[in-house]
Amino acid sequence: MRAAVVSDIHGNLHALEAVLAAIEEDVPDEIWCLGDLVGYGPRPNRCCTIVAGRASLSLVGNHDLGVLGRLDLAEFSHEAAESARWTAEVLEDEPRRYLESLEPSAVHANVGLYHGSPRDPVWEYVLSPEVALASLLQANEPIVMVGHSHVPLALAFGEGRLDGGLAPAGTELELDPERRWLLNPGSVGQPRDGDPRAAYLLLDLAAHRASFRRAAYPVERTQAEIRERGLPEALADRLEHGV
Ligand code: ZN
Repeated sequence: MRAAVVSDIHGNLHALEAVLAAIEEDVPDEIWCLGDLVGYGPRPNRCCTIVAGRASLSLVGNHDLGVLGRLDLAEFSHEAAESARWTAEVLEDEPRRYLESLEPSAVHANVGLYHGSPRDPVWEYVLSPEVALASLLQANEPIVMVGHSHVPLALAFGEGRLDGGLAPAGTELELDPERRWLLNPGSVGQPRDGDPRAAYLLLDLAAHRASFRRAAYPVERTQAEIRERGLPEALADRLEHGV
């Protein structure tokens, strides 16, 4: 099984299209999505339709739940809440039904998949070694994948030791089956690790390998769409800096 794993697309159609074009060269068996298809970005309907058609499995994220009215937007930042309200207004029936059908966690091909973390699949960010370790201890699967933080990560735990951290573009891992692994593919539509290119991960379960990849996309097209729709300027600005 070879899977391409994407997360946190956030309505950024041009980033999603660039990732799908790059993935095509690797011909994965399946595409998995770890949630947050919408929120922040200007093309929520199209992103949902593409994921619904292409992904074998998708999770729902906190932004998706906010747009569906299942999370209180008072818990969101000002810009996140404003874009969630806009998204809720423009979201069409079919994308809405698709998002409503999704769960924030799943086990698939013996891999644990969580939007946030195993302890709290909706809200918890895995950004520290302590939370990464707690996540691995909470889950049962040898490989645990999370999204939500928009930062690509790879950590390994075994024999009482936790190693790893940020996983920049080009990181290639041999997934030692004697250890437990926590992987975050990074974000397609709003990367926050200083690299503005869209992030994704290729996971080869038979060969025990993971490759962290990035795809360049026309950031200025997404920025123009954000401005046309009157979404907060900061949401356009941050995309070119990858923060
Ligand atoms: Zn997100």
